[in-house]
Amino acid sequence: MALRPTDSSALLIDGKLVPGSGGTFEVLNPATEEVLGSAAEATAADMDAAIAAARLAFDEGTWSRDHAFRAGCLRQLCDALQSHIEELREVTIAEVGAPAMLTSGPQLEGPIEDLRYWADLAENYSWEEDLGAAAPMGIPTARRVFKEAVGVVGAITPWNFPHQINFAKLGPALAAGNTVVLKPAPDTPWCAALVGRVIAEETEIPAGVVNIVTSTDHALGARLCTDPRVDLVSFTGSTATGRTVMASAADSLKKVFLELGGKSAFIVLDDADLASACSVAAFSVCVHAGQGCALTTRLLVPRARYDEAVAATAATMSGIRAGDPSKPGTVCGPLISARQRERVEGYLKLAVEEGGTIVTGGGRPADRDRGFFVEPTLIAGVDNSARVAQEEIFGPVLVILPHDGDEDAVRIANDSPYGLSGSVWGTDPERVNRVVAGVRTGTLSVNGGVWYSADAPFGGYKQSGIGREMGVAGFEEYLETKLVASPATT
Ligand code: NAD
Repeated sequence: MALRPTDSSALLIDGKLVPGSGGTFEVLNPATEEVLGSAAEATAADMDAAIAAARLAFDEGTWSRDHAFRAGCLRQLCDALQSHIEELREVTIAEVGAPAMLTSGPQLEGPIEDLRYWADLAENYSWEEDLGAAAPMGIPTARRVFKEAVGVVGAITPWNFPHQINFAKLGPALAAGNTVVLKPAPDTPWCAALVGRVIAEETEIPAGVVNIVTSTDHALGARLCTDPRVDLVSFTGSTATGRTVMASAADSLKKVFLELGGKSAFIVLDDADLASACSVAAFSVCVHAGQGCALTTRLLVPRARYDEAVAATAATMSGIRAGDPSKPGTVCGPLISARQRERVEGYLKLAVEEGGTIVTGGGRPADRDRGFFVEPTLIAGVDNSARVAQEEIFGPVLVILPHDGDEDAVRIANDSPYGLSGSVWGTDPERVNRVVAGVRTGTLSVNGGVWYSADAPFGGYKQSGIGREMGVAGFEEYLETKLVASPATT
């Protein structure tokens, strides 16, 4: 089978690749604005059929109980996807606008390889634990704890790292024994649909275990939240949508797992190498045009060296060109859509209205007449209460803020509704550790340490989310706990 980016894609429902009842919708290349092809447009009836298939596969199949079979299927899926890696890479660059260099990591190869980690967990996890004998209320009792799959998982994902986020849900949910209905973002249907095709045609994953429903209709995501046949909603997206997801899941009291937005701080202490730290901060916010929830978008530098820091950061940012994502050297590709570009440009205008200065960037690159590109942009001269310092912009935009020492840096970092990620740069380990302890976020990098890997739990404090993705903590989000007490035999 060849997966070509010009194919029209199908839904995967109950093991079959089927057209959408609503016809098709166009898939755009954000770097060229060309129509790449079409994706299946699902309707509420398709979503209903997908949920029914997942429910049946969970309730009547052996999937949730056969740990070794599931591990085998996940390895089979990993091998099959790896055999299509170049075709998938082509699709990912074209559909997502993902820089080619990222597809050897988190945009493609990383999350596919991570399927082996989830397979190993399915096989090696302690599914059963003996609590030992006790005599509650004087009755000798043996107690065992069993870990079991939650049931049907509704997975709702965004467009910025579609493979990473789709597999961060499919991997642990399937390894834990659940069945899944995946609803990817309307901007990136192919990344999910092609995985659906590989599952249907090249794996033994039973019918109904994975269902993939592409659509431009956000209301189909909402149906996953309200349908009582779905036991858990695993959502990654904006904080605003996360609130709606949580509210709509309340009626049926389903488990809700949320990975949301961020406005993370990059803290440079006064004993750090300022120029190097600023350069790293400048580079990281340009990766994938700043479309990463965990990117550090506020740079906090010592007030006494603010001007020097602004100059060093601007020097790096002005050297990074937003360009063709298929070129090997490109770090900063396009934004995903005209709508996102408008949103980012709105924030650039707002920065000036709020009294800020655009030090570098601020517009569309002069050498690009097609594609949703925005120049890497540095905003200076605002304080942390400015909306551009408080709200998620989701573009290659960095706000540089002065701090008055370690405690003040922690205060500013925490003065945010979000708590997803962050970075601390300094040379004195005691000071660094104090700052790390003070920052209220789920993930922190110290002096450039890399936190992303299959076994490392990732997630947010505060309004950045509920629960953890990846690692054993991420796997356990998809499990229930059953305690069984029986008379102790002597
Ligand atoms: P979004 O919230 O607009 O959409 C995400 C998904 O939710 C899409 O599939 C969409 O169709 C669906 N959806 C929309 N309305 C819904 C509703 N009422 N009920 C159920 N589902 C609904 O987000 P986006 O614009 O696609 O992605 C960007 C956002 O995602 C950013 O805020 C970013 O920070 C966040 N994000 C977070 C993480 C993380 O792990 N914390 C990772 C990546 C992206």
